[in-house]
Amino acid sequence: MPDVLDIALLTSWIDRTAAVLEREKAYLTELDAPIGDSDHGMNMARGFAAANAKLGATPPGDVGALFKTVGMALISTVGGAAGPLYGTLFVQAGVKSAGKASLDLAGWRDCLAAGLAGIVQRGKAEPGDKTMVDALTPAVAALDGGGLSAALAASAEAAEQGMKATIPLVARKGRASYLGERSAGHQDPGATSSWMLLKALAETAA
Ligand code: ADP
Ligand code: MG
Repeated sequence: MPDVLDIALLTSWIDRTAAVLEREKAYLTELDAPIGDSDHGMNMARGFAAANAKLGATPPGDVGALFKTVGMALISTVGGAAGPLYGTLFVQAGVKSAGKASLDLAGWRDCLAAGLAGIVQRGKAEPGDKTMVDALTPAVAALDGGGLSAALAASAEAAEQGMKATIPLVARKGRASYLGERSAGHQDPGATSSWMLLKALAETAA
């Protein structure tokens, strides 16, 4: 089990994420159908395929460059809310990790926290608004020590709990908010893709 996240590991994380999102494309789109516009699976699969291709074409020299490449690929290839929001997450993570060859647990927590702060600044969602913020917030909080692999597993589990907790919520941000009370009873697609990203990271580092 690795004690740091280096460029090779982070590159395989993005590769794994692209594969997971391609496989789960129909499921994410199904979640986006009743409370959105049925494009979340397509958006995510297309964005991470582009990010993965970019990393393959120009291997980054440090972690900051890697995250920045992923973020810019997401921003430039994904329309809709989620592309720019996930793009911001990776760009801000890249600012935190500029020049670093690898991240230890505290380094990764700083990156994810900065990424989440970027999403909140841009999208103005608070916990409980039924968005990806509901999965990412507990995921950051769960990165509170212990070994790297165990912490990443705990973080992914916390994201899964946050994702499930979006089901009864009434959406206050994004397209789902147009439905008002009728958005309750559906799991948020963006919280679900956030869980998938973090689960892929935990699996890559296991
Ligand atoms: P769109 O809503 O433009 O079709 P997607 O379907 O790709 O974009 O993504 C929808 C997801 O984006 C939602 O499930 C939610 O998690 C997330 N989202 C939407 N608006 C916001 C926001 N303001 N802040 C955080 N996340 C948001
Ligand atoms: Mg949508």
